[in-house]
Amino acid sequence: MTIQLYNTKTRTKEPFTPIDPENVRMYVCGPTVYDRAHLGNARPVLVFDILYRLLRHEYGENAVTYVRNFTDVDDRINETAQKRKAAGATGTLEALIRERSDETIRWYHDDMDALGALRPTHEPRATAFIAQMIAMIEDLIDKGHAYAKDGHALFRVRSYTEYGKLSGRSVDDMIAGARVEVAPFKEDPMDFVLWKPSTDDLPGWDSPWGRGRPGWHIECSAMAHELLGESFDIHGGGIDLQFPHHENEIAQSKCAGHGFANVWLHNEMLQVEGKKMSKSLGNFFTVRDLLNQGVPGEVIRFVMLSTHYRKPMDWTEKKRDEAEATLRKWFAIAENAGILWNEGSLDPELMNALADDLNTPRAITACHRLANAGDPDELRRNMEILGFYQKGLPAWADTSATHFTQYEEKLNNLRNIAKQTKNYTAVDDMKAALIAAGVEVKMDKENVYLFIGRGFDPEKLKALQ
Ligand SMILES: [Zn+2]
Repeated sequence: MTIQLYNTKTRTKEPFTPIDPENVRMYVCGPTVYDRAHLGNARPVLVFDILYRLLRHEYGENAVTYVRNFTDVDDRINETAQKRKAAGATGTLEALIRERSDETIRWYHDDMDALGALRPTHEPRATAFIAQMIAMIEDLIDKGHAYAKDGHALFRVRSYTEYGKLSGRSVDDMIAGARVEVAPFKEDPMDFVLWKPSTDDLPGWDSPWGRGRPGWHIECSAMAHELLGESFDIHGGGIDLQFPHHENEIAQSKCAGHGFANVWLHNEMLQVEGKKMSKSLGNFFTVRDLLNQGVPGEVIRFVMLSTHYRKPMDWTEKKRDEAEATLRKWFAIAENAGILWNEGSLDPELMNALADDLNTPRAITACHRLANAGDPDELRRNMEILGFYQKGLPAWADTSATHFTQYEEKLNNLRNIAKQTKNYTAVDDMKAALIAAGVEVKMDKENVYLFIGRGFDPEKLKALQ
């Protein structure tokens, strides 16, 4: 199978060839751990979870290294810790900062686990790699790509002629875009912070430029280098990170002499009911808000994957309801699968769709076809590769009410009565209702057998109880 991926760097869909097929390496920018993940944060997690599953399938479960970082150096984490301290919490500010990062990471794991996302191989915290960041900054200063001024270290953007290539912008356009901050310690307004001083009341680390803390961009360059090596295969993240974050990562790593990432993937943004999600519009919610409202993680996953990752995705109530109905139907079929997971085979159309730049909507269409064909093993195996079916049947989709035995017994009883009365109306009515619910009915002299058929609808079946 040839995996094709759209490389943002070249703006083309390219066949994917790993540097080392025995160790395929991927880095994805992770969350800043200051609060619950909002719904938009879940999109890259699910997109790259699909890619991770596809790569594991193609190269082997142990042949893929996936790194996603936790940014735990951040003013918003510090603020919460300071507020808690002011409110009388015991412990040092450092301990309270750590406590806030720890609890946020725990929430993140709970929420993303509920969406069926596999944990990456490594989830490094920035604070555990400060020494590597300092070493990289020193190297960049030695090579003339960075400089120290007033307790800061800054990257000299004009020293890297390829700057802006990923997002297709020139340095001058970017300056005109006025997204750059002019500061007295900068040689050029485009230069960005690698290291900045810390005030006495905030956490800091000793460095050649004084007590301070790293800028955000250097984190990813240093951790990717430490955990994946000088060159690796795939770098992913949301399109909002392309500039300046990813441009800055590339500039730092390339100027340090690293090959860095070969393929860049960016997912588009998420909207809610056609509008940008924002606190001011009142349509802002977290993954946990949805889970607490009783929206199953599988349903969130389904809605997310039903739009291709390079298109803006719109979260709507309607899609949510449809996803739930579809998954209930699929689970009702798949729960009749055999004990062994490998009984079903992966559908070639579904796999081709995934290999074609992660075309998840097409993969879902293939799953619909499998559901209509009604083979439980086939359906479960293919739901599994999409991450919908993992540790058995989720409780919310437990359709024990639709177990066929009770309907088989009911129909058989009606038939026994009819044999006496010679009135088969009730039997015929129930048969017709079962067929209308997408159930196949077979009878021999002694028994009634029911099977899932085309267009199986568990809700209609339940109505026959
Ligand atoms: Zn990053």
